[in-house]
Amino acid sequence: MIDLSTRDIKFLQGVGPQRAAVLNKELGICSFKNLLYYFPYKYVDRSRLYLIREIDGNMPYIQLRGRILSFETFGEGRQRRLVGHFTDGTGVIDLVWFQGLKYIEGKYKANEEYIVFGKPTVFSGRINVAHPDIDPAADLKLSEMGLEPYYNTTEKMKRHSLNSHAVQKLMKNLFALLKEDAFDETLSPSLVAAYHLMPLTDALHNIHFPRNPEFLRKARYRLKFEELFYVQLNILRYTKERRNKFRGLVFGRVGEIFNTFYSKNLPFELTGAQKRVIKEMRQDMRSGRQMNRLLQGDVGSGKTLVALMTMLIALDNGYQACMMAPTEILATQHYETITRFLAGMDVRVELLTGSIKGKRRETVLRDLLTGDVHILIGTHAVIEDTVGFSSLGLVVIDEQHRFGVAQRAKLWAKNVSPPHVLVMTATPIPRTLAMTLYGDLDVSVIDELPPGRKPIQTVHQFDNRRASMYAFMRKQIQEGRQVYVVYPLIQESEKMDIKNLEDGYLHICEAFPEYKVSKVHGKMKPVEKDEEMQRFLRNETQIMVATTVIEVGVNVPNASVMVIENAERFGLSQLHQLRGRVGRGADQSYCILVTGYKLTEDTRKRIEIMVQTNDGFEIAEADLKLRGPGDLEGTQQSGVAFDLKVADIAKDGQLLQYVRDIAERLLDSDPNGERPENAIVWRQLRELRKKNVNWSVIS
Ligand code: ADP
Ligand code: MG
Repeated sequence: MIDLSTRDIKFLQGVGPQRAAVLNKELGICSFKNLLYYFPYKYVDRSRLYLIREIDGNMPYIQLRGRILSFETFGEGRQRRLVGHFTDGTGVIDLVWFQGLKYIEGKYKANEEYIVFGKPTVFSGRINVAHPDIDPAADLKLSEMGLEPYYNTTEKMKRHSLNSHAVQKLMKNLFALLKEDAFDETLSPSLVAAYHLMPLTDALHNIHFPRNPEFLRKARYRLKFEELFYVQLNILRYTKERRNKFRGLVFGRVGEIFNTFYSKNLPFELTGAQKRVIKEMRQDMRSGRQMNRLLQGDVGSGKTLVALMTMLIALDNGYQACMMAPTEILATQHYETITRFLAGMDVRVELLTGSIKGKRRETVLRDLLTGDVHILIGTHAVIEDTVGFSSLGLVVIDEQHRFGVAQRAKLWAKNVSPPHVLVMTATPIPRTLAMTLYGDLDVSVIDELPPGRKPIQTVHQFDNRRASMYAFMRKQIQEGRQVYVVYPLIQESEKMDIKNLEDGYLHICEAFPEYKVSKVHGKMKPVEKDEEMQRFLRNETQIMVATTVIEVGVNVPNASVMVIENAERFGLSQLHQLRGRVGRGADQSYCILVTGYKLTEDTRKRIEIMVQTNDGFEIAEADLKLRGPGDLEGTQQSGVAFDLKVADIAKDGQLLQYVRDIAERLLDSDPNGERPENAIVWRQLRELRKKNVNWSVIS
């Protein structure tokens, strides 16, 4: 028996060292097994014949049986093309070649019967198939051809003659080598039987060369089941191990600090959602288990206040709390907000960022160690090794997707027992993704905005219609409001970004000579950036021209218009975040998405969704469907290897839930992995863990 996982791909018939290098570099395929697990992205039904009169321009592929009536050539030199007029008795179409004209004309004869396969397009009213596959009808047994697999390939692969067809051929060579028992089953017989799964061997055969659509469906189901099952089993197992290892700090009481704040300082009623979420966290923190909670709430839903009240519970139980924000501006803003909220109370709050230095810093560090500082707010600076606490009980992380796994692990180490952890995000993560990415986090949702907010009105504007937009901005400013104008960051070129922004800035200054304009971008020194933000906050400037540095958290309630230039360059969640910068006061707010005239289908959809809804969850779901989970903001940085080959988090949410329950039951019935009937499962899990060190180790 061949060991598929160690056998170098270059030894496969049809590969060799050169192509092996290409496969390796382009697709990460090094072994026989890697190739085996390179699945087709689609299948074409080759058993089906169409009639010419049935064809329209939208069909992805067609297959016809008929005859070439005659050949004709058109054009000169490089423009030359060969056209074969082809009929099946129900109509005539054109087969077209731009290359190999002589060869084609010599090879195919008029009036012989052929099977033609290819992609139809309609060109000036006639149906064309360019460079079709042609076989003599006598040579093909269609009923045996079934579904033909198509594999994704790259430009570089194609240059080495590794197109989809060639990959298919390699796959055939591979299967020809393998005996029926070449694959070790990766799920236990009891699971395979209980959930009517296709055995692995059959599933692998049928995912590449399906006998029919029903076999393909079963093969895909089996492989998806397995992928999602192990993802969930791993997360659940990990969570259990962690719970066994650590005891959570017990915050048994809600005491004087919390109650004083609630009755004396809280300036408004909590929303129902805020109350519910605070209660959920109280339960966690007194349960004896370490809290690991993800708090999702749309921009403006009042997460900061919830975080503050949770921190006060920690203080009431004799512990310190710490809150971490991704930028200096945000940390400072949190610090100011929280200091204001706590005015008159005997709670010491300190700020620690990169720009707090010298004596000030020394004092903060010293008083943290003695416990005189109760709440520390800061940037990444708080996780530096020089920062120690006397008794850290709770860590709040704002805008979680900017913090990596390693950074979080560092925070953990700052107390003997790990502190409770609250992760807050305004980028709502769809449930299915949360279960995969953050499966070991409990999730709380603030699904209600404070009363009195008016939904932001969003419009789409083409960029050749600026005059009316400027008129609208002017009117808003005359009414006392302020305006943001945001430009995208194009990562390939910082110079371009700045130029884009500078041009926009000059343009705005010219168009609004009577007003003051601020400018903020990522290349400015933090102090300058901050000063400019502060000017805007004090309403000394009326228009803020900025890159996406203002994306997260910044709060200027008087700003009521958000203009997003080149909106086509932004992803959905980013657009939503930016829009969340307005609509924070009592006034009606507006978001104007400016784009060029030509839009791709995807962009059109994104804009449409933004115009239609303000609901962050709806937007996140749509984003997931449009982009796929690998692209979602945060997933790359989160340290989770996303290695789903067949399952699709966006589409297989139900199956995910289903297998999670199965994994949970298995873990409950065999918590120590001792039962012989599960031996395969535990062995497989160990294998997968070896490969993916970071898998699911999130917080
Ligand atoms: P986010 O969830 O985006 O972090 P914030 O915590 O910044 O939201 O809250 C947005 C604004 O709403 C703040 O000015 C805050 O003081 C205010 N706010 C929070 N909770 C309430 C409430 N229950 N009623 C009225 N205003 C509230
Ligand atoms: Mg916030």
